[in-house]
Amino acid sequence: MTPPLRFRPHHFLCALGYEGKGYSEAFTANMSAIVIGRLRTDAGDDVQIEVAEAADDICAPCPKRRDLGCAVQPRIDRLDISHAAALGLAAGDTLSWRDAKARIRTRVAPGSLGQLCAGCEWEPLGLCEAALLRLHADHAK
Ligand code: SF4
Repeated sequence: MTPPLRFRPHHFLCALGYEGKGYSEAFTANMSAIVIGRLRTDAGDDVQIEVAEAADDICAPCPKRRDLGCAVQPRIDRLDISHAAALGLAAGDTLSWRDAKARIRTRVAPGSLGQLCAGCEWEPLGLCEAALLRLHADHAK
């Protein structure tokens, strides 16, 4: 059986909003393989994801990774704490991408990422907020 992906709490929203931008060529290649190659496929909703408490599958080739930590650890800690609380997740939980998206839909309101993702350098681009809006709109159809 394929082992589950491992995401730290704030990377569930990052995966939802990912549009091919990242910290380096290796980073975007890896994140594209995970998000586009696995989650955004016909079988993607069934992919299992384990909640990690430190560096995860997305962090692996990141130029900011420092072993299991991150060069901007205090900012990352704040993001992980707020996202874990918002999504009701704890390290060691395992859920499908389908369930993760349902949690985001039911627990993260459109317009809330400015607060939830405060401090993230990608948030002001609006890509994640647009993806969150699409997630809510797709469900309402
Ligand atoms: S910036 Fe830090 S938390 Fe974000 S992907 Fe890179 S190593 Fe991981």
